[in-house]
Amino acid sequence: MQDILAALGIKASNGGASTGTQWIAAGGRELPSFSPVDGKEIAKVTLADEAAYEAVIAKAQEAFLEWRMWPSPKRGEIVRQVGEALRKYKEPLGQLVSYEMGKSLQEGYGEVQEMIDICDFAVGLSRQLHGLTMHSERPGHRMYEQWHPLGIVGIISAFNFPVAVWSWNTMLAWACGDVCVWKPSEKTPLCAVACQNIIAEVFAANNVPEGVCGLVIGEANIGEKMAHDGRVPLVSATGSTRMGKSVGAAVGARLGRSLLELGGNNAIIISKDADLDIAIVGCVFGAVGTAGQRCTTTRRLIIHEDIYDSFRDKLVAAYKQLRIGNPLDPNSHVGPLIDKGAVEQYLQAIEKCKAEGGNFLVEGGVLEGAGYESGCYVKPCVAEAQPNFSIVQHETFAPILYLMKYKTLDEAIAIQNGVPQGLSSSIMTLNLREAETFLSSAGSDCGIANVNIGTSGAEIGGAFGGEKETGGGRESGSDAWRVYMRRQTNTINYSTALPLAQGIQFNL
Ligand code: NAD
Repeated sequence: MQDILAALGIKASNGGASTGTQWIAAGGRELPSFSPVDGKEIAKVTLADEAAYEAVIAKAQEAFLEWRMWPSPKRGEIVRQVGEALRKYKEPLGQLVSYEMGKSLQEGYGEVQEMIDICDFAVGLSRQLHGLTMHSERPGHRMYEQWHPLGIVGIISAFNFPVAVWSWNTMLAWACGDVCVWKPSEKTPLCAVACQNIIAEVFAANNVPEGVCGLVIGEANIGEKMAHDGRVPLVSATGSTRMGKSVGAAVGARLGRSLLELGGNNAIIISKDADLDIAIVGCVFGAVGTAGQRCTTTRRLIIHEDIYDSFRDKLVAAYKQLRIGNPLDPNSHVGPLIDKGAVEQYLQAIEKCKAEGGNFLVEGGVLEGAGYESGCYVKPCVAEAQPNFSIVQHETFAPILYLMKYKTLDEAIAIQNGVPQGLSSSIMTLNLREAETFLSSAGSDCGIANVNIGTSGAEIGGAFGGEKETGGGRESGSDAWRVYMRRQTNTINYSTALPLAQGIQFNL
């Protein structure tokens, strides 16, 4: 790991605040980052205090005045070079993501690949920030709209995608002409330090204004400061619904803009007309991948009564094959939870489920002994439960899967939609009517609805996000760029008269 840290410019003690190429005094307490893989301390970071936050915001404000005047394709060229740098650092960065967060090595690399993909997307976008033109009702007038950058985009991110979520926001925001200030999760601070070092290389080589890429590594108080800060017109926050409600209220109170990407409670409907071989892979990967710590993790299976018993038995057999262990070992299917607090929440959820009448088909528990010294490895488990159990209505960020039975598709859709969250959903069916009903306006109420693939995994081209308590934000693909810009409608009179709209006469 020392080689990897050195390659990414990570020292034993690291700064927690930066304006781009320069680290500034962070002023807060020193925070060690422990790996959930083996429980060892990786390195330390000095947390940003309020003075550091102020310095980074001030520099970002200054940088915006210059950056907004760079032609968008020139900004795109910087993003292109960032993509190249990420290709160069894919291995060490992917390994650090895996070691600091605990996801599998393949998922660590996959996360860096997502960063590269969003760079490519944003480069193209930098030449496509299109506005519409409209026909004016007034003679000799032209009307059109254009999109301008907003200013500072504040990015608050969660531990489970410690680098990709930042890049989803930042690459689009930069192409749009915004400057960014990132408040990463305090559980994965070194991933943020590594990204900042990679960016610094590109920025120094291209004389990008200092302040375009700000970093403030802090705890929730720094995120709260950002949410209340009128100098930050857009706050993009990814994390729990609890956090999103707080950030959304604070940003809303100052009539700022927020992009919220919050918790999910994702279900797969398994029809009696499903290809069960595909379904089993989609369900198991969706439920146990990243140890159940994806916002799109499959948490509920809604299974048709005719195939319930056989599917349940196949699922239990598949769970018995799972290998839990070091995520850097390619033979492991399931790695650790992020920390002991997460393990505690997992254990509490199992107890709550039992107390509400849940029947565990695959028992959970914490693993001990050689290879499990960090205390963060848990057994993925499966319980038969009722849709209305309070624990089933709640997102537990751990590999606990709830099984439910249905008779009719309407009933299955009602169960699928009957939770406060609305992120990802899917149906396994070869029946066209069922698939189309699920995707119709009377079907899934989620931001993501899939057929014959699971709930987890997203591609950069599509807009990502969900409804209800998931927060309503969309980022990454499609036209998600618009949230990072302000729309301006322009009317130009090239006639010799001043006709007023709606035929109003105003004679002087
Ligand atoms: P979390 O809410 O505990 O923390 C997320 C971030 O918010 C951290 O940077 C944290 O410091 C900050 N924060 C916490 N309270 C805050 C407050 N009151 N004001 C401002 N900032 C605050 O979440 P987590 O445990 O890091 O991540 C897991 C959660 O994130 C899950 O609920 C998961 O579903 C969600 N998530 C959602 C998406 C999505 O795209 N919808 C993606 C990844 C994770």
